[in-house]
Amino acid sequence: MHKQDQALIFESSKPGRIGYSLPEMDIPEVNVNELIPQGYLREEPAELPEVSELDIIRHYTALSKRNHGLDSGFYPLGSCTMKYNPKINESVARLNGFAHLHPLQDESSVQGALELMYDLQEHLKEITGMDEVTLQPAAGAHGEWTGLMLIRAFHEANGDAARTKVIVPDSAHGTNPASASVAGFETITVKSNDRGLVDLADLKRVVGGDTAALMLTNPNTLGLFEENIVEMAEIVHGAGGKLYYDGANLNAVLSKARPGDMGFDVVHLNLHKTFTGPHGGGGPGSGPVGVKAELIPFLPKPVIAKNGEEYILDYNRPQSIGRVKPYYGNFGINVRAYAYIRSMGAIGLKSVTEYAVLNANYMMRRLSEHYDLPFDKHCKHEFVLSGRRQKKLGVRTLDIAKRLLDFGYHPPTIYFPLNVEECIMIEPTETESKETLDAFIEVMIKIAKEAEECPEIVQEAPYTTVVGRLDEALAARKPVLRYQK
Ligand SMILES: *Cc1c(COP(=O)(O)O)cnc(C)c1O
Repeated sequence: MHKQDQALIFESSKPGRIGYSLPEMDIPEVNVNELIPQGYLREEPAELPEVSELDIIRHYTALSKRNHGLDSGFYPLGSCTMKYNPKINESVARLNGFAHLHPLQDESSVQGALELMYDLQEHLKEITGMDEVTLQPAAGAHGEWTGLMLIRAFHEANGDAARTKVIVPDSAHGTNPASASVAGFETITVKSNDRGLVDLADLKRVVGGDTAALMLTNPNTLGLFEENIVEMAEIVHGAGGKLYYDGANLNAVLSKARPGDMGFDVVHLNLHKTFTGPHGGGGPGSGPVGVKAELIPFLPKPVIAKNGEEYILDYNRPQSIGRVKPYYGNFGINVRAYAYIRSMGAIGLKSVTEYAVLNANYMMRRLSEHYDLPFDKHCKHEFVLSGRRQKKLGVRTLDIAKRLLDFGYHPPTIYFPLNVEECIMIEPTETESKETLDAFIEVMIKIAKEAEECPEIVQEAPYTTVVGRLDEALAARKPVLRYQK
């Protein structure tokens, strides 16, 4: 029994009903036919619903309730760090002095904004242990691509253009090989060993004079901290390659360990994950990139610099790879991250990691009695389970994910990483209470029992959502994005 559609705005339309009231015109009326070129004019008025203000409010409120957001419930989507976005960030981002700026304003009139960006870069340098940071990239994958272009520019400046290969472990985030490919590199895969960590022997085998970089996701997509980073750094640096740290999931190590101290040359962060920028639904992100001194000359321009007491945009960067984004990055997301860092402080940021890791390990241990645990090792901010035990009973991981919807939860990430059969990847984050974690665990246990006792219940879920099982391939390939009567 799926919920009835409560939002039939077109069907409740009554001719002549209006949902707005405008003041009387105080300018002369114009003839649109004269202003707009003929080819652009409609022949007939648009078919829009005619409804009252109350109808329209109910319509949008009903639509908003169909969506699952962080503010409506638990969202353990592994690798996405769906943690609480503090509302104070929103207040700060909405301050007139930030929200109403124009990107073409003169530097002298936007000193506050430039100071905020400069300061944010300083904080991110401290957090990552790098020598300089750019805020331009608009997302994690965009940061990866930018970082790889910096590495390419570095090698080329050193007459080392034969470095065409980027090494990516099979436990890396999926965007890593994609970014390497878009940046014009060939991707070489290194295998994980049976403990879920990079196989050093395999790394030694593939590294060489054509290695541009190793891209490491740490913790890897299994939620495991790579133990042999110092050795990996020696192997790759020894061959003249650079080390790239995918720091999208910094929630796992924030204020505990720094990529710069581990020997990495380039790192990107996802401010829309660790630093509480709202995300999901394709909203704006921010993927700043930090580099070691050798790579600074290649950073995207303009670089925000300080000249005495004045903040400036420095375009005089002859070796820069150029702009990677119009203007200066997604400023609003950077303001939110700045507000978060300043309101948490150093001690607050340390506790982020402690609770994120504690929560993940607590859930992993309790759930491992009911689901297979492919890598029985202390995890970081997230962990993976395998649904292979349930699959033998006819219940796939997809069914488990669908069943969770009936209990008001967003499902975990499923079927990723690829190297775990029927994978379920759970990231609870630090902002959830023990009560929330326990309630979710109880539901997961209940679903495991259902799989044993009456698998059909799980196979046919969900029952309480607006729509049931969708043809996901059709929805992605031929989306219907317009209302049709
Ligand atoms: C989310 C994520 C990315 C990609 O970030 P986007 O902002 O979605 O482009 C890259 N690496 C890891 C480890 C991630 O979790």
